[in-house]
Amino acid sequence: TTSTQLGKSELYVNPIGLGANAVGGHNLYPNLDEEAGKEVIRTAIQNGVNLIDTAFIYGPRRSEELIGQVIKELGARNQVVIATKGAHDENNNYAPNNSPSFLKQQVEDSLNRLQTDYIDLYYIHFPDENTPKDEAVGALKELKDQGKIRSIGVSNFSMEQLKQANKDGYVDVLQSEYNLLNREVEREILPYTAANQITFIPYFPLVSGLLGGKYTKDTRFDDFRKDNPEFQGERYLHNLEKVEQIRKIADHKGVEVAHLVLAWYLTRDSVDALIPGAKRPEQVLNNLKTLEVKLNEAEIAEIGHIFS
Ligand code: NAP
Repeated sequence: TTSTQLGKSELYVNPIGLGANAVGGHNLYPNLDEEAGKEVIRTAIQNGVNLIDTAFIYGPRRSEELIGQVIKELGARNQVVIATKGAHDENNNYAPNNSPSFLKQQVEDSLNRLQTDYIDLYYIHFPDENTPKDEAVGALKELKDQGKIRSIGVSNFSMEQLKQANKDGYVDVLQSEYNLLNREVEREILPYTAANQITFIPYFPLVSGLLGGKYTKDTRFDDFRKDNPEFQGERYLHNLEKVEQIRKIADHKGVEVAHLVLAWYLTRDSVDALIPGAKRPEQVLNNLKTLEVKLNEAEIAEIGHIFS
């Protein structure tokens, strides 16, 4: 099976991971079924999807707890690369806090909820305003030296924050928004991550399902998506038109829109792994078909052009 290295770390993952914010993420999606979420995790692990992406804030707490339960039940700890994140301070309206003492406590709490004694990839979820980013990462480096985490990530960091965070070369992964509708990171961030052996993991790769090829002008959304401008009015219709152009290429190749889109990201420098979200086990299996999509240079250019 294909496997890809996370930054400079000793970790190798299936490039198709799992975004687990719909596993126990009751604060993000109303009416989530926890059993379905646990089944999503089981399906992932049993089918070679080993990078599982969660965070303290998904639930809050519940996503990590459910993932911990399933990994324990399956006895699968050494098959899974657990990625989790912290920074939201619940005693301060969930504002980001990157101070070394706060991050160290967050890691301890995540270890407990996940029922494990190490976290494979620990991210600072959001930058705060005050902590120098090399000091924040320095705290994670100490935890890495103690064996509590195995690699270091940052998320939602600007170019300047990333450079400061990586001053000593300790950052393995950057996770930020990147998709065909938001290509801002192509300007400075991706060249930097590529040059510094940092893995870039895009979130919202399918723009919360918009690029998945299933929605129509009549689809209605009852969760956070109804507040996203990409899902509103003319802009939504325009996005659907672009998806139809993608569908022509997908049909021609005999693949699905979602897989074509996901495969395109993996052609970008330093985008080594993806974490599409899934609410149902079938979606986990379905997204694995991305690995079968081979794009030639003309197709890569054409997809980029449709969304330029
Ligand atoms: P996404 O991957 O862009 O969209 C996921 C949604 O797309 C699914 O919930 C599903 O929605 C639909 N989908 C999944 N597979 C599909 C397929 N094969 N065909 C068609 N539609 C498909 O966005 P996301 O789930 O919001 O983000 C991915 C992950 O990124 C999250 O789980 C989370 O782990 C991470 N994330 C991180 C941050 C951060 O600050 N670091 C922020 C946001 C997200 P329906 O079933 O409703 O159609």
